[in-house]
Amino acid sequence: MDLRLYDTLTREKRPFVPLDPNNVRMYVCGPTVYDFAHIGNARPVIVFDVLFRLLRHRYGADHVTYVRNITDVEDKINARAVRDFPDLPLNEAIRHVTEKTAAQFHADVEALGCLPPTFEPRATEFVLPRADGKADMVTLIGQLLARGHAYEAGGEVLFDTASMPDYGMLSGRKLEEQQAGVRIAVEAHKKNPADFVLWKQSSANEPGWESPWGRGRPGWHIECSAMSAAYLGDVFDIHGGGLDLIFPHHENEIAQSRCAHGTPTMANYWMHNGFLQVEGDKMSKSTGNFVTIRELLYDWPGEVLRFQMLMTHYRSPIDWTRHATEQAAVALDGFLHITRSVDIEDGNISPDVLAALSDDLNTSQVVVQLHALAARGRAGDYQAACDLKATCNFLGFGLKEVGLQDILRHQKSDIDSSRVDALILDRAVARARKDFKESDRIRDELAGMGVVLKDGKDANGKPVTTWEIAR
Ligand code: AMP
Ligand code: ZN
Repeated sequence: MDLRLYDTLTREKRPFVPLDPNNVRMYVCGPTVYDFAHIGNARPVIVFDVLFRLLRHRYGADHVTYVRNITDVEDKINARAVRDFPDLPLNEAIRHVTEKTAAQFHADVEALGCLPPTFEPRATEFVLPRADGKADMVTLIGQLLARGHAYEAGGEVLFDTASMPDYGMLSGRKLEEQQAGVRIAVEAHKKNPADFVLWKQSSANEPGWESPWGRGRPGWHIECSAMSAAYLGDVFDIHGGGLDLIFPHHENEIAQSRCAHGTPTMANYWMHNGFLQVEGDKMSKSTGNFVTIRELLYDWPGEVLRFQMLMTHYRSPIDWTRHATEQAAVALDGFLHITRSVDIEDGNISPDVLAALSDDLNTSQVVVQLHALAARGRAGDYQAACDLKATCNFLGFGLKEVGLQDILRHQKSDIDSSRVDALILDRAVARARKDFKESDRIRDELAGMGVVLKDGKDANGKPVTTWEIAR
């Protein structure tokens, strides 16, 4: 069975053929460590963990190299360090912030059932030439200058986008269009508005490294070009991240890596997960519509959140709702009951699940297949129950004794659910006789109890109203 993956660069789903089946190589952009990761950040981590597991299954666990970096140099980190540790020297303050945040991130994603990547390089360790000779940022920038793809101006080293005829292929942005569309004044020192920073000078109170271009720090994009080359070589198989990284981050990674190494490609498959929003709104710190993994883990077992994430195909947007979390909890609780007393050793990974995953990680189809196995298990098919257990385990679900029904009951316990149900019925009756004043009044009464109503349709198209507790 072919594994087929959608490639953002060629805009097609095609069979995955690794450069070297003995060493399948994948790079995914990791977190910038200055604050708790939010549930949107968990999406690429979970999605590419599933792909990592599938690749390990197909090629052997020792034949897959997965690199996910940690970005520990960035201006937001400096700002946080100054705010949180005003009395410490800057470098020490930065180390506190990045180490603490990286440790939180590791704990969060482990709770979400994600395997550690094979290598997890930190950007700050790849700025200067290394004793082990692995690729580094300063050497890459030097190569770009030597090959005529970069120039020094205004105290910066910039990538010269005009030096690369096919710059913009990933995002589909043509250089001329970008120039024509630019409304803001071109920064005076740039030859071209699309040119981007490879190296910038640091003032005394900013982190910096001594380089041939003075004391400074790298631009964001060059980090990933260096760390991917360090562990995966000049050209590798898969490069992943969220949709927002296509431009400028991945576009610029491609430009730097191809021009520095003189290669026609950087990675053969570019994969991007869709965005996640919360309860119908974009996540934003300023509006308070923002949920950290940590907050969710306080209320729910990590595998429930993992299951919820996989209910949607990775390229589709997700609306992260409490209702969907409850659905995920109920599904896993059902699987737990069926598999509790069966022996995982008797089970096989479901070929239907592997087939769904092999179709560009169709995890929503995986969920359908798991429910089908569960239905057979519930009907007394011992083999199906064993297969369900083995398949869940392969997908990163331990099916631990979490007592999900208890959690659900506990979470709703402060609210008298029979009273809520009665009011919902009254409201449906009022709506049926077109008494919208009364139906609105009932909705407000429920809102006063902390209950949010959701009007939708059931499988037969009949209107149904569900409810959840206001966040
Ligand atoms: P950042 O730390 O902001 O660079 O993000 C780390 C990863 O999370 C990147 O792959 C982003 O594309 C991804 N990401 C950030 N926000 C969201 C979101 N709301 N939905 C899905 N992925 C996201
Ligand atoms: Zn990156």
